[in-house]
Amino acid sequence: MQETKKHKNDNKFLETKKEKNQPVPWGKRNWVQLGVFLATIGIGIQFFIYVHQSSGDGVIIVPRPPGVEGFLPIGALMGWKLFLQTGMWDPVHPAAMVIFGFACLLSIALRKSFCGWFCPVGTLSEWLWKFGDRFFGKNYQLPAWMDFPLRALKYLLLGFFVWAVFSMESLSILSFLQSPYYKISDVKMLHFFTRMSTLAMVVLILLGLASIIIRNFWCRYLCPYGALLGLLAIFSPTRIQRSPENCISCRRCSQICPYHLPVDEKLGIISPECNGCMDCTAVCPADNALELKTKGTGKYVWNTAKMSIVIIGLFAGLVFTARMTGHWQSSVTAQEFRIRLQTIDSPGVSHPAVRFR
Ligand code: SF4
Ligand code: SF4
Repeated sequence: MQETKKHKNDNKFLETKKEKNQPVPWGKRNWVQLGVFLATIGIGIQFFIYVHQSSGDGVIIVPRPPGVEGFLPIGALMGWKLFLQTGMWDPVHPAAMVIFGFACLLSIALRKSFCGWFCPVGTLSEWLWKFGDRFFGKNYQLPAWMDFPLRALKYLLLGFFVWAVFSMESLSILSFLQSPYYKISDVKMLHFFTRMSTLAMVVLILLGLASIIIRNFWCRYLCPYGALLGLLAIFSPTRIQRSPENCISCRRCSQICPYHLPVDEKLGIISPECNGCMDCTAVCPADNALELKTKGTGKYVWNTAKMSIVIIGLFAGLVFTARMTGHWQSSVTAQEFRIRLQTIDSPGVSHPAVRFR
């Protein structure tokens, strides 16, 4: 009787090791990831065409996509510091601030779900390790003595960027955000890909290979953006919660977790690594044993449908509000952009020196 109450399905579900290691089937989270990934590719192509048209004398038909600023997180961090100190919203790359704010807000509300559901780099990283899992039959896990210090790397990188930005005076930030370099920094970023150096290409290939072999190599060890979101997520009232009364100690949750978290041993997961993917809840065979819940909301349990709606709804709502209130479109006109593009390779448009306190 007890067995029947606890198991969602019959016991055959747990019978073989092979079945235990079955991946979680394609679900709503993967659709959200695919949608955002394709939208990012579309934005990249649109921006490439815009830059190409702006380089010539002809009519510019394709508008500049503000979403490209999602790849300027350091500028966004500076923009937010300036905004919090002076109330001034960066008019050069305002969308960068909106997207950065969305990622931070989401992490505080729903764990590091920006990484697990939205970030196109996280999605690519996940596809690579899943490919490796299929191709080699498994992913490799670094021994604890290597894993732990390597995980500190992303926090060190984050610490450096936060120190650099927060030790800058407001005036210095303002002058950086209005510099010729920052006004065209989105094109500098595009050139990273279109004029890639041999060294950058080798590093990217090595990162890709490492990501095939080791789960979430970039996100787990190197991404300072994810490190910041993980630290914010520690304060999130939403977390994976395990009920020891209903748990049957099958360990499927820990085996499937892409971050190797000991889900089956904890009552709640507060780790900054948890990206709210909900793969653990998807494979849990016991009723009400493992759920994503928000503290203070009674018995409210999240599922992937609710997560999809809230994540997409929040992003769409923020972008819509920003557009309507003039906090989304860059103040750099197409004409100014065209003029600045002509001097992009001159020494005057290199990264400006910044003054720290
Ligand atoms: S604990 Fe669960 S929700 Fe968090 S990363 Fe691991 S599998 Fe995903
Ligand atoms: S919480 Fe984890 S160990 Fe417990 S029943 Fe669910 S999958 Fe198995």
